[in-house]
Amino acid sequence: MYRHLSPPISRRSALATGLAAFFHTEDTFRIAPFQCDATPDKGEPNIWVQPVTTVMDPLFVKGVVIESLSRRYVLAALDWCGIGGAADLLLRTALARGAGTDIKRIALQSVHQHAAPYIEGDAYKILAKVRPNDLRMSDAYLNRLAASLEAAVRQALSKAQPFDQVGTGEARVERVASARRILKNGQLLTRFSTSGKSPELAAEPEGAIDPTLRTVTFAAAGKPLVRLHYYATHPQTFCCDGRVSADFVGSARAAMEAHDGIPQLYFTGCGGDVTVGKYNKGEDAERAALSDHLLAAMKASAATTRLHTIEHFEWRYRDLVLPTRAAPDSYPDEPQLAYRAAITAAFAARTRPLPTSALHLGPAVIVHLPGEPLLEFQRHAQSLSRGRLIAVAGYGDISPGYLCPDEVLRQGGYEPSASNAAAGTETRVKSILNELLAPSTR
Ligand SMILES: [Zn+2]
Repeated sequence: MYRHLSPPISRRSALATGLAAFFHTEDTFRIAPFQCDATPDKGEPNIWVQPVTTVMDPLFVKGVVIESLSRRYVLAALDWCGIGGAADLLLRTALARGAGTDIKRIALQSVHQHAAPYIEGDAYKILAKVRPNDLRMSDAYLNRLAASLEAAVRQALSKAQPFDQVGTGEARVERVASARRILKNGQLLTRFSTSGKSPELAAEPEGAIDPTLRTVTFAAAGKPLVRLHYYATHPQTFCCDGRVSADFVGSARAAMEAHDGIPQLYFTGCGGDVTVGKYNKGEDAERAALSDHLLAAMKASAATTRLHTIEHFEWRYRDLVLPTRAAPDSYPDEPQLAYRAAITAAFAARTRPLPTSALHLGPAVIVHLPGEPLLEFQRHAQSLSRGRLIAVAGYGDISPGYLCPDEVLRQGGYEPSASNAAAGTETRVKSILNELLAPSTR
């Protein structure tokens, strides 16, 4: 017997009231995987304001449309460093249009590679006034991406397949993630993504990470159809030039698709203060090793996946409003710094709440958060698991930047310096998590 919260009618009550004919058990749930190219054109901005020069490998939006009782929900992972404000709204709207559903049933999460664009549409509106000559992603490119995303979703729907099971799997990832913040002898050290160059920082222990990769599989009569993987680390081996790449997570994902023969989606969890710095100097061989280690965990997680019938399906959406920092009163001459100042100004002026959501699928719950949440928020979500598999995707609307617990804001360091959200963020994000993860009362 399953329960469904929206629309508020269950199969049990349908049977009791003679409405069973409305429900076809075999097609109550349907899923449609889709994919759309999201590689920026040459000359468009890659991360920050660096123009694209070379494409090492293409970027994608990879997603699924899930249908339950004629309502559709979209979960999508975008191979960009971040997308926020008006640009995030543009792509969410395209996904909602393609799926013929409400925008509050869309989760669009960036994977956060740093050889990829970081586009904040509200900051662009400010820059257009104060620094009109700086490089911004063109409306022509963004509108073309939105149109092809909408078309990809619409096309996928014609091939939607029924599913009746959800799979839960997990595996430990070896030698990938390590803490960025290291407190040593009362001193805060910062281990950035290429800190392997420093023998001292590489020698420090992995520190506070969540070593578990979690996998949610959609299946029909025992046959897996698509897998969604969740792991918390910055997926960054190099950064900040004109080279475009989905980095080591993209190559692991592609290798897993070849191995498993079905679509694979990869989402980055609360990896705000987690990097690959212990294991990475930025060399090709290290990138390949990180990809292999992640792939090994994807395979192990798939191999140990247990399938369950879906006794409870529910989508929860919550608006999140965060305390903001003061807007800067001027813009530096350097274009990247000016862009970052505009992002802070845009967030300070923002009135539209940030979207958060959770999909409850029997023993699996998938949570979607905005910004760059620090690991503490994933730990909080896991503390509410009650035996369920909790998969967390961060990096929805990127506008707030890092989401820092209050203690981290007090300590200072890198993440607070790149956050547009102020003290009090912790309470608000944790209370949203409490709501999103509360067991259903119906
Ligand atoms: Zn980051």
